[in-house]
Amino acid sequence: MRIVTFEEDGRTAVGALDADEIVDLSTDGALPRDMVELIATWDLETAEGALERGRRIRLVDVRLLAPIRMRKNVIAVGRNYRDHAAEFSKSGFDASEKQMIPDHPVIFTKSPTSVIGPDDPIVLANDPTGTTDYEGEMAVVIGRRAKDITRQDALDYVFGWTIVNDVTARDLQKRHVQWFVGKSPDTFCPMGPCITTRDELPDIASSWMRTHVNGELRQEAPISALIFDTESLIATLTEVMTLEPGDVIATGTGLGVGIGFDPPKYLNSGDVVEISIDGIGTLRNPVV
Ligand code: MG
Repeated sequence: MRIVTFEEDGRTAVGALDADEIVDLSTDGALPRDMVELIATWDLETAEGALERGRRIRLVDVRLLAPIRMRKNVIAVGRNYRDHAAEFSKSGFDASEKQMIPDHPVIFTKSPTSVIGPDDPIVLANDPTGTTDYEGEMAVVIGRRAKDITRQDALDYVFGWTIVNDVTARDLQKRHVQWFVGKSPDTFCPMGPCITTRDELPDIASSWMRTHVNGELRQEAPISALIFDTESLIATLTEVMTLEPGDVIATGTGLGVGIGFDPPKYLNSGDVVEISIDGIGTLRNPVV
């Protein structure tokens, strides 16, 4: 199932995408209207019933929101594709770098207030340094409370997959050494358009991710090229902390970000960034 959070006449609910329609899964109170509650209480059979009986709405008649209204920071992973780690190292923008290919995942977070939905604008005015860059990423959505989870069991704790644009203010990322400020300006975390459940897309590693800016292909990477895969990220995190339903882990970006070019190709007002992952869809955001 491909699940979205949508707004219709000022009311927010959760629905399932079906071609150019959405099925309202909360029809007659069948399922919760909040995505995190839905994830925490998820039962595939109940959801399939709600899908059969739900009210159908044309996609053009609603506004899609970020699938999850984050209550916690988005967890994110840096330098998780070899060729991107090399381009980032060469750019000189990583003030925290000790070695190009890390032995352990480089993990940081993005503020919940940076999250926006599909088609919402990325606002350049929130980056006073004028060095705003895109990063197309596959993101893991956690389905169950998880602590001390082994690699072998890790996928049982995944609800599904979505897309994140880990938009970054490069000069802030460098200036503050730790990445939180440069990664967290308002609007710098587009997410969506949907969450594809794991039963619908069991093997995310076979998908490819592509980023286009104004129609020009900038990034193209197989998810299988991740240095630290979903299983290893969950094992690493849950060795020390509890992950909860609705937590999001953006797994890192591939080769071809703006600072990989000489001169850098930063985002400009009027640009459109589109990130596509097979089996999930396309996350499109204008830049203003
Ligand atoms: Mg990133």
